[in-house]
Amino acid sequence: MNNKINCNYHTHSLLCDGKNTLEEMVVSAIANGFETLGFSGHGYTAYDTSYCMSPEGTAEYLAEISRLQKKYADQIEILCGIEQDFGSDEPADQYDYIIGSVHAIFPHAGPESPDNFHGYDRSIIFYVDWDYQSIEKAVAESFGDDPYAFCERYYEMVSQLPEVTGCRIIGHFDLLTKFSEQHSWFDEKHPRYVAAVENALDKLIPQNVVFEINTGAMARGVRTTPYPAPWILRRIAEKGGKIMINSDCHHKDYLNYGFSDAVKLARTCGFVSVKKLTRQGFTDIYI
Ligand SMILES: [Zn+2]
Ligand SMILES: [Zn+2]
Repeated sequence: MNNKINCNYHTHSLLCDGKNTLEEMVVSAIANGFETLGFSGHGYTAYDTSYCMSPEGTAEYLAEISRLQKKYADQIEILCGIEQDFGSDEPADQYDYIIGSVHAIFPHAGPESPDNFHGYDRSIIFYVDWDYQSIEKAVAESFGDDPYAFCERYYEMVSQLPEVTGCRIIGHFDLLTKFSEQHSWFDEKHPRYVAAVENALDKLIPQNVVFEINTGAMARGVRTTPYPAPWILRRIAEKGGKIMINSDCHHKDYLNYGFSDAVKLARTCGFVSVKKLTRQGFTDIYI
């Protein structure tokens, strides 16, 4: 069943926080029988350059992918995408597709801030996926010890991703649960959490976005299940939303990590197909 998913669109390289060159990833994709490989380097964020592509790295990324597209043209289709963070203001229109992601939240509204960004004060950020301590610190320092206020801000920002980043694909929808298996810092059944998720889905699904089942944290041993949680996947299915399966790959050996489990999960949650992206646009893979 898993060999039906012969593509991945969430792929990093040494030019951001991945472990392999772009070409090593392509060679691995071909060895795995992929028909399509999409790269999604982290778009530049001036407030933190540690994990993203530098401006020079971005130029190299575009040039190298163009070279690889020609070199491997008869073996695999290569797409040049980007994983654009909510906080990135670099243009992303030259890419084949955009994955929009919230990795860091801006806790304060900031219309008057010198660093006002879409109504937020971008000078103060807290990562949701760096470590549990940064979540703990954010909840204590900026949300009055109210974890649900943190969750509401996160999903408010996720729901704005298409307008802010221009994305069609929503990256790891419930990334804020990254450390929830080790630290139960909030209750996913709490009405305020459920409402925050439902509101984001109701805003995003009519915009025809594609949500990913993302197995990246499983490959890195942080989680035993993919994003998003099964109950959220079921709600996406019930509301008529679309999904795709991505490995958020940072290492060439994990390009299709967890794909067979992801297919089973998608079926269990009510999906009969997942999306595949080609140069001709989105098509369906029936699972
Ligand atoms: Zn990400
Ligand atoms: Zn990623």
